[in-house]
Amino acid sequence: MGLSDAPKPVRVEIKGQELHCVICRHNGFHRHHAKLERAGLFTSDWTDPSVVCYECDNCGYLHWFMPK
Ligand SMILES: [Zn+2]
Repeated sequence: MGLSDAPKPVRVEIKGQELHCVICRHNGFHRHHAKLERAGLFTSDWTDPSVVCYECDNCGYLHWFMPK
């Protein structure tokens, strides 16, 4: 135990709804912050290109959210 590179997956709520993976319905995620500029996805319509993404602990699918 105590491995810093293997964080426990967390449950995520979006607007009071528990997030389930759209692929496998798993409910454990790893949270990441990302800059869309680095991914080449930035458009001038977005004033803040920082986004939050949740990586499914089971299948690895990324769920992206713009900060509100
Ligand atoms: Zn999944």
